[in-house]
Amino acid sequence: MLTIHTDTKVHLMSKDNAPAARCKDGETVCFETLDCFGGQLQSEAQKMGGLDWDNINPATGPLYIEGAQAGDVLKVEILSIELDDHGVMVHSEGERVTGSVVQGEVTKILPIENGCAKFNDRLSFPLSPMIGVIGTAPAGEGIATGTPGAHGGNMDCTRIGAGTTLYLPVNVDGALLAMGDLHAVMGDGEVGVCGVEIAGAVTVRVSVLKGCALPTPFLLTPELAMTICSAKTADEAADNATLAMHAFLVSELSMDAHDAGMLLSIAGNLCVCQVVDPEKTFRMELPRSVTKAYGYQFR
Ligand code: CA
Ligand code: CA
Repeated sequence: MLTIHTDTKVHLMSKDNAPAARCKDGETVCFETLDCFGGQLQSEAQKMGGLDWDNINPATGPLYIEGAQAGDVLKVEILSIELDDHGVMVHSEGERVTGSVVQGEVTKILPIENGCAKFNDRLSFPLSPMIGVIGTAPAGEGIATGTPGAHGGNMDCTRIGAGTTLYLPVNVDGALLAMGDLHAVMGDGEVGVCGVEIAGAVTVRVSVLKGCALPTPFLLTPELAMTICSAKTADEAADNATLAMHAFLVSELSMDAHDAGMLLSIAGNLCVCQVVDPEKTFRMELPRSVTKAYGYQFR
């Protein structure tokens, strides 16, 4: 299997990045990833203030997928996520949201033991591995890996885990897929500015879809379909995620626009992904029983 190591990483998702590797449509590829601090925090004595900020949010890649052209959709099946044996968190004065009510900064190393992240002697949390940063290159100017957007990026969506399928836009030839910023556990919102940040490896199968009308980024779990949108404000991101799913229901399921609105109001769950990045991210979750009832097949 093709494996991309952490020595080939980017801090900007850009059409100008040289591919770290090339693969065929339908190939399975492993991305080894550093944590969001670039592995700089190895002890609790090291603080966020001492970080080299040019080395934050590294995304491994980019991967050039042969046959991918602007206007296509890249289907990324997340087959597995392996995690390191410890994670790290920081909490710092001035950072959103809870940093507004503390002084100073702390670093916490969390051992991964028996399938759990150990927070302290009282609390351990079952691992729920997810990918914080995953995206393709945008068509125009590059976008920092710390920022989410229409290309994906730093969406910090707790649902992007093993066994799910993420659909991303192809904006440039080869798509230039990159990813990093794994979390062992994270709450929706990421209100203290990080999850349990951790290094690891993600195995994905990548396929190029021609003529696919899904609004991207779009995520499928075994039970749910969801649109994911990022915008300057949480209000805009929430509205955009809702309207993207509404547009999908109307255009792809041929649903009446009033019915689609009513349906989302009773069966759609609007959820926060994160409110701490340069753009905020929300998702609209819909049970797949809806698409099934309308005979819609995801590719
Ligand atoms: Ca993140
Ligand atoms: Ca993170």
